[in-house]
Amino acid sequence: MKIAVYPGSFDPVSNGHLDIIERASKVFDHLYILVSLNPNKKYIFSDEERLSMMKIATKHLANVTVEASSNLVLNFAREKKATVIIRGLRNYFDYQNEITLFTFNRSIDDSIDTFILFPSANNLFLSSTSIKELVLFGASIKGYVPEGLEAMITEKIKKQG
Ligand code: ADP
Repeated sequence: MKIAVYPGSFDPVSNGHLDIIERASKVFDHLYILVSLNPNKKYIFSDEERLSMMKIATKHLANVTVEASSNLVLNFAREKKATVIIRGLRNYFDYQNEITLFTFNRSIDDSIDTFILFPSANNLFLSSTSIKELVLFGASIKGYVPEGLEAMITEKIKKQG
C-alpha cells in the first residue's frame, strides 16, 4: 500500500491545491492531507475553517483523508506509514522554498521522499494571496477555489478586510 501526505496551510484552499490532490490521489493508494496548525503563523481562516474547507473540497475523493495537526510533517508521515510527501511547484520562488524543505527533511529521515507536482497551466499563477486580492478588489473567485466554497471564502476575506 503506497501512502502519501500532502501538507500545507491551505489559507484558503485553491483549485491549484485541488489539482495536485486529485492527481496524487490517482497515483497513491491513500493520500492524507495535513492541514498545518502553527500557532506562530498568522492565518486569515481559523484552524477549523481550513480543515472544514479542505474536507468539503475533497469529499468526492474516496482515498483521501483530511486531518489537522501541529505535528512535524515527517512525524505525521511516519504515524500514517506514508513514504512520500507531496508538494506543488509553480515557479522559481516555490523552487527555492521546496528544495530547502526537501533537503532538510531528507537530512532527518531519508526513508521518506518528496515528490513534486507541477500544477496544470490554468493553476500556475494561482495562490492563496491572489485569491485574497481578487476578493478585496471585488472580483469573483469562481473557478479559482473549489466548488461550494466561493461564498464562504469571499465573505470571510471581505470581513477581515
Ligand atoms: P505552505 O504554507 O506549506 O506553503 P500552502 O497552502 O501555501 O502551504 O501550499 C501547500 C502546497 O501547495 C505547497 O507545496 C505549494 O507550493 C502548493 N501550491 C500552492 N498553490 C498552488 C497552485 N496554484 N498550484 C499548485 N501547487 C500549489
